[in-house]
Amino acid sequence: LVSRKRQSKDTVVMVGDFPVGGERNVMVAGPCSVESEEQVRQVAQTMSKLGIRLIRGGAYKPRTSPYDFQGLGEEGLKILRRVADEFGLKVVSEIVHPADIEMATQYVDVIQIGARNMQNFELLKAAGSVRKPVLLKRGLAATLEEFLFAAEYIVSRGNTQVILCERGIRTYEKWTRNTLDISAVPILKQESHLPVLVDISHSTGRRDILLPIAKAALAAGADGIMVEAHPEPSVALSDAGQQINLNQLEELLMQLRQTYDLV
Ligand code: PEP
Ligand code: MN
Repeated sequence: LVSRKRQSKDTVVMVGDFPVGGERNVMVAGPCSVESEEQVRQVAQTMSKLGIRLIRGGAYKPRTSPYDFQGLGEEGLKILRRVADEFGLKVVSEIVHPADIEMATQYVDVIQIGARNMQNFELLKAAGSVRKPVLLKRGLAATLEEFLFAAEYIVSRGNTQVILCERGIRTYEKWTRNTLDISAVPILKQESHLPVLVDISHSTGRRDILLPIAKAALAAGADGIMVEAHPEPSVALSDAGQQINLNQLEELLMQLRQTYDLV
């Protein structure tokens, strides 16, 4: 169902009134984790000033260590919803448990399924059973075929609104957090009709190369990018080393808008 052979026309995923995968490129921006209402409000205020509509923020954080910040849970989703409504933004947030999918549809506009859960088949089935767009991230060690089969799990349950997100894969390289598989972008666009985003933050883990990586993603045909931004990255409760501050977010967007129509 997700194959280009089944549908030649590009799927445009409608997040409410906001299209992902159409003429214009989109930016998904926001903190790694939802930490407080004030934190989310600061990011949302900047985004609304800049004309970016999709705010991200994790309320359920799949952390490597059980001792690290695990997220605010449902309270985090409530914060996102309140602040997004205040500024006319759409909410993208990760859900990690199949039983939470139904609850999350009250708060989020896009259900994110993270890299670590790309082959959590019960989660995929649950996401396929609701009528909310899903942003599906590629697994840390998933082939493109496995990635598209994961998307197929969702679409085959009746939820056709799936956005794919390349977020880097595990390699031996240590100077980046992951290795961005740039060839995934044109291949996914060829093999599938679904929109494709590139997460420039988790794929690199470093803020100093975001601009060239974003340009590469968009030049390769990505429908948009995801970037982590925080009012004060150095004190972030997760991914402090890779998030950009709100001035840097504005600068990145302005640079990209010289070439791309990014909203
Ligand atoms: C995220 O986007 O918050 C995240 C945890 O990313 P990934 O699942 O790609 O590691
Ligand atoms: Mn993160």
